[in-house]
Amino acid sequence: MSHRQPTVLVVEDEAAQREVLRYNLEAEGFEVAIATDGDEALLMLPEVEPDVVVLDWMLPGISGIEICRRMKSNPRTRAIPVLMLSARSEEVDRVRGLETGADDYVIKPYSVLELMARVRTQLRRVRPAATGEKLTYLDIVLDSETHRVTRAERPLKLGPTEFRLLATFMEKPGRVWSREQLLDRVWGRDIYVDSRTVDVHIGRLRKALRRDGGEDPLRTVRGAGYALG
Ligand code: CA
Repeated sequence: MSHRQPTVLVVEDEAAQREVLRYNLEAEGFEVAIATDGDEALLMLPEVEPDVVVLDWMLPGISGIEICRRMKSNPRTRAIPVLMLSARSEEVDRVRGLETGADDYVIKPYSVLELMARVRTQLRRVRPAATGEKLTYLDIVLDSETHRVTRAERPLKLGPTEFRLLATFMEKPGRVWSREQLLDRVWGRDIYVDSRTVDVHIGRLRKALRRDGGEDPLRTVRGAGYALG
């Protein structure tokens, strides 16, 4: 079962640059989607739902700046971190890049190691459990490195699917997840699983969380899905 890996959308028109980025991002364990120009990037965004976008500034057609501006003015894409690549190093360009809402900015030619570190930094903000962080919600602590979960300092026994479900919820407390979104995030988008399977595993997760008499932190949102808290 493949837990959906963090996905990076690379928007770059130069083939050699694209391949360097693809190779290195895949080596980091990321799923990589590639757009070769701005129009393709805009089409792919809702489809791919990337965790991070690496966006070249100079693109044929719609520029990287314009894509960034559109992403940051759209509530559906606003929260996705954008790492802008540019060949221009002038201060004014840097400032303009940041005014578009880009979350970070790297000047070409860049060090691949540095770029990977910056991608990880952005990812840590949006997918902390995917980068080995400890997550805490009330008295629940989830350690994504050791795969241990405790509640009120007592260890909880969770199956791998329940663990990934809980990690998904704990990354964004309060967010309502539909069954489809949970399937995509926890089971992976290429695997066919009946959406009732989600309910079964939510039931198991609830049972495990309440085993020692703790309150059920999961909320069923009628017609919408589930949320933590
Ligand atoms: Ca370019």
